[in-house]
Amino acid sequence: MKLDHPSDQDIDAAVMQAADGALAFRRWPAGLRAIWHDENDRRLRRELIFINAIGMALGLLCLPFDYLAGPQVFETALTLRVGLVAPVYLMAMFVARYGSPSLQRVTCLLPVPCFATVGAYLGMHTINPYMSEYVMASGLLIMMTGVILPLRPACLFTISGLALGGLWLVFLTMPHPAQANIPTLLAFISVICVVTLAIPVRTTRLRDQHFLLELRSRLMSARLIVANRQLSELSHRDELTGLRNRRYFERVFESALETSIARDDELAVMMIDVDHFKAFNDTHGHMAGDRALRQVARQLEREFAAGGYTLARYGGEEFVVVVEDSDVETALQLADRARQAVSARPVTLDDDRSVRLTVSVGVAMRKVAGSTASALMGRADEALYEAKQAGRDLVRLARKGDGRLPPAMPVSA
Ligand code: GH3
Ligand code: MG
Ligand code: MG
Repeated sequence: MKLDHPSDQDIDAAVMQAADGALAFRRWPAGLRAIWHDENDRRLRRELIFINAIGMALGLLCLPFDYLAGPQVFETALTLRVGLVAPVYLMAMFVARYGSPSLQRVTCLLPVPCFATVGAYLGMHTINPYMSEYVMASGLLIMMTGVILPLRPACLFTISGLALGGLWLVFLTMPHPAQANIPTLLAFISVICVVTLAIPVRTTRLRDQHFLLELRSRLMSARLIVANRQLSELSHRDELTGLRNRRYFERVFESALETSIARDDELAVMMIDVDHFKAFNDTHGHMAGDRALRQVARQLEREFAAGGYTLARYGGEEFVVVVEDSDVETALQLADRARQAVSARPVTLDDDRSVRLTVSVGVAMRKVAGSTASALMGRADEALYEAKQAGRDLVRLARKGDGRLPPAMPVSA
């Protein structure tokens, strides 16, 4: 469904007005009508084909009755019903299936007036003992049309008008055996047909209201889905740096760990901590500290986001990264590249002075340091502590449980 065509305000306004029946279909915003046509086109075509098929069958099923009415009626009926009414119905079905909506609008006007007028003609202008019955049957057909045809009221009014006009025309213009009750009958039928049209007018109004309310509720749901998505995105973002936050990281980390265990792949987790950041804050102020954290975050992002690794702010001046399916050499190289990138690009203060910041990194590998999230984070934290102890601006690899270093040595010692 095309929801982007009319504006939300258009739909809201139309729904409000249509809810109390004040806005007629032709006064809906054009975009809204386009949606209506778009959604109803296939159904209308199907229904028109079905109802026209029934109309054609009815037309042909009348032939046995024509036969009972007399040989002259039957002869004329055969010509008119088979040669005129049935082809008109067939054409209407064909156009309903393949024609453009405007052509469809024109052709759907023809079958009923044609059927009804032929019936009236057979009744009034052949030597027919059932004259009134034929006229009544034509009137019944017009009434049924008003109730059954899946068309908008304006179209139904036109069809009924044409059909009633046809009946009156046959009566007024062609010679017929005098029968006193025919004008009364025609007048009665005309009034009943017009009154009957109140039914589709009301049904259409209710359907239109239902369509608008449903459209609005779909629009609301679409808006709600977008809002939820934005909300969920926001709840996973760290406000200061724009990086993913700890909550998001923990979820991703758990699932990465499970996958790594299931596939028996290696997995690295890194804890990155800004060195002497308290001193930086004390010297340059908290605002400058915030600005510096954002710049460090951007530098780390450049290093890790390119490889698709999940980087998050873990809290304070600490960041975490999970690197899936990575051997220890790759993980250590990545960590050291990030360390060097931060130290190589000083952060700038408000007054454009630049200050060099460094980070220390602790790296823990799943197969060496443990298979639970908390164990791995704990070992990465220990490695980070070692990097701090060893002088900062360093990368350290978590030791094995027995306190020995794993096979690969840290890159920066
Ligand atoms: P070390 O090298 O051992 O990590 O020293 P440090 O000073 O960085 O470590 P410490 O844990 O003593 O201090 C961390 C500081 O980070 C303290 C806190 O004021 C600062 N900090 C944490 N979060 C923020 C923040 O969002 N903005 C600012 N400006 N500072 C923060
Ligand atoms: Mg620190
Ligand atoms: Mg810290």
